[in-house]
Amino acid sequence: EKCVVAVDGPSGSGKSTVSRRLATAVDGVYLDTGAMYRAITWAVINGGADLNDPDAIAKIALETELSIGTDPAAPHFAANGTNVDEAIRGPEVTGAVSAVAAVPSVRKHLVALQKAIIAGHPRIIVEGRDIASVVAPDADLKVYLTASAAARAARRSAENSADVAATEADLARRDKLDSSRAVDPLKQASDALEVDTTGMGIDEVVAHLLHLLNS
Ligand code: C5P
Repeated sequence: EKCVVAVDGPSGSGKSTVSRRLATAVDGVYLDTGAMYRAITWAVINGGADLNDPDAIAKIALETELSIGTDPAAPHFAANGTNVDEAIRGPEVTGAVSAVAAVPSVRKHLVALQKAIIAGHPRIIVEGRDIASVVAPDADLKVYLTASAAARAARRSAENSADVAATEADLARRDKLDSSRAVDPLKQASDALEVDTTGMGIDEVVAHLLHLLNS
């Protein structure tokens, strides 16, 4: 039977690791919507668009051909035929993605793609910022993962061996931009269950979500 899980939350809340593990556990696929915004951002930077010009951003974004991997064991992404798995995690893309994601026509375009991907898969775990509120309001389970700012920064810097203080500052900067943008801002959907992962291990969070899904 159809099973759609929406996993929203700020960066470093554990969304990606938890969503991939959950997808594997239910024998489903995994959609990383943040990676879609990042891949579009890579194309916008590569195309030389002025990041202060929403029309220029939108033009490139809508012309970019995305290849979106949904295998939880190896979710590969390409933009216009170029693999971007590494580039989309780098500081250049991370620094620009919130500005690109704030452009309404970019969001409209990516939300439509996301809905089509969800419709094409019987079992899918979707992670992002606006999944429960905009992309999949009819999801079978909607969770909002949180964690303390310190825990989020510690996890993120362990992933990419960056300085913890600098990482915490960058997460705070992006959270502020993502929560204050005019369209689909990051916020907990009223019917999403909040799970604070601060003191929890990955196994524990995944087990908790499986329990919620089956109850
Ligand atoms: O989750 P991740 O850190 O990869 O997301 C990168 C950026 O993409 C976020 O900071 C946010 O600006 C944007 N995003 C979004 N809506 C989503 C997923 C990500 O606006 N559903």
